[in-house]
Amino acid sequence: MKRYDYVIVGGGLFGGVMAWCAKKHQKSCLVIERRKTLGGNLYCEEIEGIPVHRYGAHIFHTSDRKVWDFVNSLAEFNRYTNCPVASYRGQMYNMPFNMNTFSKLWGVSTPEEAKRKIAEQRGAVKGRPANLEEQAISLMGRDIYERLIKGYTEKQWGRDCKELPAFIIKRLPVRYTYDNNYFNDRYQGIPVGGYNGLIGRLFEGCGVLTETDYLADKARFDGMAERIIYTGTIDAYFGYRYGKLEYRSLRFEDDIYDTDNYQGVAVVNHTDREVPYTRTIEHKHFDCTVPYNENPKTVVTREYPVAWEEGMEPYYPVNDERNQSLYEKYAKLAEQEKNVLFGGRLAEYKYYDMDKVIASAMEKAEKEFGGQILWREQEHSR
Ligand code: UDP
Repeated sequence: MKRYDYVIVGGGLFGGVMAWCAKKHQKSCLVIERRKTLGGNLYCEEIEGIPVHRYGAHIFHTSDRKVWDFVNSLAEFNRYTNCPVASYRGQMYNMPFNMNTFSKLWGVSTPEEAKRKIAEQRGAVKGRPANLEEQAISLMGRDIYERLIKGYTEKQWGRDCKELPAFIIKRLPVRYTYDNNYFNDRYQGIPVGGYNGLIGRLFEGCGVLTETDYLADKARFDGMAERIIYTGTIDAYFGYRYGKLEYRSLRFEDDIYDTDNYQGVAVVNHTDREVPYTRTIEHKHFDCTVPYNENPKTVVTREYPVAWEEGMEPYYPVNDERNQSLYEKYAKLAEQEKNVLFGGRLAEYKYYDMDKVIASAMEKAEKEFGGQILWREQEHSR
């Protein structure tokens, strides 16, 4: 008999859903986390009474009713709707690309005028777009590409837009309506008070080892449980046998200002190439239900993209062809590890949003634990 049913490597969202589900099936879990805190990149640190999204802005959005009901059974969500603004050479433009943006850029007022303008500028790109640059120009025209996409994307990914896959830019909606909502999803919000409460519910009842590196003592930890759920980087798991996958990392700098309102919105994207950071986040605006002027101070975080090196936090997988085919080789090895379940952004090397991580964990949990799972917390406490 092993001490635990599961060792869960990584205290992020994938591991959290698995831990929650295991507990509902009377299984015991030990969570092993390298950082000091659980919650992966959702973790919030309270500064000046404001929940600061420590590892970058996290806005929950989904069209998946099952996922939305699940997270709402664990935490109360506010009605925050993400409406970031892009700053380019001192001018502010509404995001995502919509009639407000087109009107500011070109003085147009109707969808027909905007479509005509974009059609004129799309000219050069024919056929299926081969890379991010072609995809962006064909969807939004050259003006938007040059002012709002090129600089931001090249800072974010550290490479030319011609060397990036087209799918990245398709994350952003292009709309011929006056609608500044960044997401098309049906449901959106942020837990009141930040994500830590939700994280606590997910990992309730687990044994937890923080500041512990599973791979540094793998054999010992493997001996402690019947099954392993691994959510770390897949290339590290296999000792970088075929070489290293590339990731982008981020560096954050906080400032506390003596003002109740620094930038008037939670997220400003800085799209000039010359400005070294990509985003400034003013965290208090993430909770639209707490009046911002009740707190005379505000916390603003600048987000600087950096190339990932060992020892840094890997944030974004770089899903270009080279990395993708390298990942496929690791995925083949993973299939042979019968006692290990791999999942999440890092183990699947996938640019997952939070809701997709949860949906994928739910699917895997249903296979792992079998049968119908009651996905709402309240269905268990009745
Ligand atoms: N992007 C851009 N300009 C912006 C915001 C985003 O060109 O003002 C591009 C950029 O290439 C980025 C991609 O759109 O990597 C996806 O942006 P998203 O906001 O979805 O990124 P995330 O929130 O995951 O960092």
